[in-house]
Amino acid sequence: MLYKNLSVNEKGHLAIGGMDGVELAAEYGTPLYVLDEEVIRQNCRTYVEAMHDAFGPDAAPLFASKALCFKGIYPIVESEGMCVDVVSPGEIYTALAAGFPAGKMFFHGTNKTDSDIEYGVMSGVGHFVVDNLNELAILDNVCEKQGVKQKVLLRLTCGLDPHTLEAINTGKVDSQFGVPIDTGQADNFVKEAMSCGNISIEGFHSHVGSQIFESDSFNRQVEILAEYAAKCRDEYGLTVNVLNIGGGFGVRYTEEDPKLNIPERINEIKGHLEVACEKYNLEMPTVYMEPGRSIVADAGVTLYTTGGIKEVKGYRNYVTVDGGMTDNPRYALYKSEYTVLNASRASENADFECTIAGRCCESGDRVAEDIKIAKPERGDIVAVLTTGAYNYSMASNYNRIPRPAMVMIKDGSSRLVIKRESFEDLLRNEL
Ligand SMILES: *Cc1c(COP(=O)(O)O)cnc(C)c1O
Repeated sequence: MLYKNLSVNEKGHLAIGGMDGVELAAEYGTPLYVLDEEVIRQNCRTYVEAMHDAFGPDAAPLFASKALCFKGIYPIVESEGMCVDVVSPGEIYTALAAGFPAGKMFFHGTNKTDSDIEYGVMSGVGHFVVDNLNELAILDNVCEKQGVKQKVLLRLTCGLDPHTLEAINTGKVDSQFGVPIDTGQADNFVKEAMSCGNISIEGFHSHVGSQIFESDSFNRQVEILAEYAAKCRDEYGLTVNVLNIGGGFGVRYTEEDPKLNIPERINEIKGHLEVACEKYNLEMPTVYMEPGRSIVADAGVTLYTTGGIKEVKGYRNYVTVDGGMTDNPRYALYKSEYTVLNASRASENADFECTIAGRCCESGDRVAEDIKIAKPERGDIVAVLTTGAYNYSMASNYNRIPRPAMVMIKDGSSRLVIKRESFEDLLRNEL
């Protein structure tokens, strides 16, 4: 099995955290998002401990809300000592509704509207991650009106290419996120920010991309940021106390993906940062990271009911499921690979070659292509692994399909954390 919390039980069913997947599907219906709380907590602890070991007690991982935003996630990450990043008023609202302290939020966003900025300041978010000059001016203004001195990080791009998909690479010079160091524009950004009377610059933020397995881009990133911090100190008298190095550690979707040793990687980054700080005679800054995917992805499994097999003679076998791109658009968007199992026949040979198709009227609605699972019959429960990140948060109502329910499992019991949408929910805002 791909993960430790998965097993095959005496009935030959897939068990998730010891709970029978077929029984969960029967109890709550399908499609169903299943999250294993213990896995989420363990992932949080790995980051918190590794960051404290490497960078001291002030360092912290921030959970990137966009990966999985609903009320139930916030008490979990908070109790494990995480801060969070948020990218919209909707995420702030959700985190606040869950009782998460605003002071531990970092507010991102490449185009924060005027009202987003007002909402963020009014809510008391701890840090704004300012993306660009336009935002800076509005933020300064809003803070002046509200009598707030706002802590900020300036989002910079380091000109790095982490060799991942174009769609999830954010750290290159040619990017809509942040301000590039390479072109010299960051200099102006820093000077402008320093001249804003209602803003206190704590440091820099940079995020290279997502699903990154190689270490070079993180190592280079901290070197570039340290060098740039030294330049800003020397030329503008700026003290950089904080470096937020973003998220992006890769997770295993299939057996072919490597397994990252997170503490080892964090230590390696620390080594590079230490050398750079020494070289430029800088104090070690407080370091933050923003893992999203690697906190929740492997905690999630989606269960579907299959509609059976459709054989297209001379081509392939299609297995259809009762969900697809509406609850998981990642295959349609990025051709993301997943591990798929027949949860009803988890002990049988996975020797039936097929493509798993969703229920939408789109030929792109697929969950996985040309994979092997134990041959299903109509009504079998199919499990797609590693769906904890960017599935629920990207879900839609295309074809008027209600969003699935989500259950959290812990210590051998399950609880509903998000109700399945009803048809009434679909009509709620329609006049
Ligand atoms: C997407 C994103 C993250 C999280 O990335 P993961 O790949 O999920 O770890 C963190 N920070 C920023 C700014 C992001 O855009």
